[in-house]
Amino acid sequence: MQEIRFEKATSFKQKPQDESKLGFGKLFTDYMFEMDYEAGKGWHDPRVVPYHNFSLDPATSVFHYGQEIFEGLKCYRRKDGGLQLFRAKDNFARMNRSAERMAIPQFDEELALQGLIKLLEVEKDWVPHTAGTSLYIRPTIIATDPMLGVHAAKRYKFFIILSPSGAYYAGGLAPVEIYVEDKYVRAVRGGIGFAKTGGNYAASIRAGEIAEEKGYTQVLWLDGVEQKYVEEVGAMNMMFVLDGKIVTPMLNGSILPGITRDSILKLAKHMGYETEERRIAIQEIFDAAHSGKLDEAFGTGTAAVVSPVGALCWKDEKLVINRGEIGPIAQKLYDTLTGIQFGEAEDPFGWVLKID
Ligand SMILES: *Cc1c(COP(=O)(O)O)cnc(C)c1O
Repeated sequence: MQEIRFEKATSFKQKPQDESKLGFGKLFTDYMFEMDYEAGKGWHDPRVVPYHNFSLDPATSVFHYGQEIFEGLKCYRRKDGGLQLFRAKDNFARMNRSAERMAIPQFDEELALQGLIKLLEVEKDWVPHTAGTSLYIRPTIIATDPMLGVHAAKRYKFFIILSPSGAYYAGGLAPVEIYVEDKYVRAVRGGIGFAKTGGNYAASIRAGEIAEEKGYTQVLWLDGVEQKYVEEVGAMNMMFVLDGKIVTPMLNGSILPGITRDSILKLAKHMGYETEERRIAIQEIFDAAHSGKLDEAFGTGTAAVVSPVGALCWKDEKLVINRGEIGPIAQKLYDTLTGIQFGEAEDPFGWVLKID
């Protein structure tokens, strides 16, 4: 494996005093990880260096054609003060799958993981201490060719930045109200829905704005062809409890294969719940609710882990789920999974990597 170089910073930021005001993605640490790619040379010069701006030619390909991918994961502080990652290898494996779809060259997943660990060792004091807080990790690759021709770039930059983030739920798991989008679509089969790439987000922002104007916090996307089947929510996969069974849309190529989704499915089975991955018509959800068979609905993703859905609005009907309250299954899965992530519950799956 390539040697990871270290360059010491000369100035340091003030760490936040009040961890209740951290929010998300506003503050970044003193260092970052970086490496570059050039055709013929491969990925080279992996390094942990002071956090810095990039200087890029206005013609740089990522600005014009969006050839980029990213990941999102967290570093957690245990009660004993030590640090741990959750399924980090799976994030880098998924990043290489996104890379393949976006014609970005494959990188060495072990080198990326070691780069992240080295960065975290330097930045360990930035992992917040308050219950529920964590250090958010954002690996990214951008195409950096300074030219306008439409083709895969010959130069890329891989970087990882870190951001201390607040507890997602300050006052317990708060259910969200979601708008089922029936005009715009996010992704189609054969497209880039399964890749974690900026374009999927760019395509979703307008619908998110409209939903917000109507008083909803997020959008639930339906399939891009018939707009009949449930896909996912902005940055969360979707699960329903139908007649006691946990049901989620199967991975069909247009939804993002969430690591939280996979973890919740494995954990739920381990805890004795019945689970099912299949196609789910939005009509089926509304019908189930009308006949009293929709027990709960919740989203899953790294940021919130489990996010209960208190209401779904589809066309003209606002469906209130479980009286707008968090359901017992969502609560139990949330408690168990966050317990594993913070090192307070047993980890029967080998998901946790202690780094300190
Ligand atoms: C990242 C993401 C998710 C959630 O994935 P996790 O690995 O669970 O964080 C779901 N949907 C989309 C579109 C995403 O980008």
